[in-house]
Amino acid sequence: MKLKISNFISLAVGYKEESDFKIKEPIDDLRLSKPIKAHLTLMRLKEGISVKIEDMETACDTACVKCLYKFSSGIKVPYAERVYYMEKPQSFDVEADQPDIFMVDLKQNEIDLTEMIRQEILLHFEPYQVCSKGCKGLCPKCGTNLNKKKCKCKIEKPDPEGTYKPFKNLKDLIK
Ligand SMILES: [Zn+2]
Ligand SMILES: [Zn+2]
Repeated sequence: MKLKISNFISLAVGYKEESDFKIKEPIDDLRLSKPIKAHLTLMRLKEGISVKIEDMETACDTACVKCLYKFSSGIKVPYAERVYYMEKPQSFDVEADQPDIFMVDLKQNEIDLTEMIRQEILLHFEPYQVCSKGCKGLCPKCGTNLNKKKCKCKIEKPDPEGTYKPFKNLKDLIK
């Protein structure tokens, strides 16, 4: 998402502007199932523009790690902030990969929020999710979805009482 900031750049340090935004277009590798909504605050700093995003909400397609059922999972980003610099800061190293350094595009007079938003969504996305607490998963032998039906495979359950003692004869051996 690109924002025109032509007017903003000429304003005094400390000037703030707030708005709500909604993005429908897809972001790179994210499989979003809902538009992104958020509250945005821009503030003019000496070195550039501070971008604050609050109460960002969207949802992402995901699959249950146990049964592979696909569902949409909500994502909330309560607060995120970045500085978009007018000039490369001293800490900027062209050689190094610095995904956290954001620049104002002075040629186009705009800032691109896409990467900032992408980073925050990834940061707040839980990668290993289950469809429900009681999900029984797939049978490791035949692949049947055990939430839907039972299969006839005999699966050795891990010993719940912990009665399996690999060294139960150890005492006898030591005697
Ligand atoms: Zn599941
Ligand atoms: Zn089975």
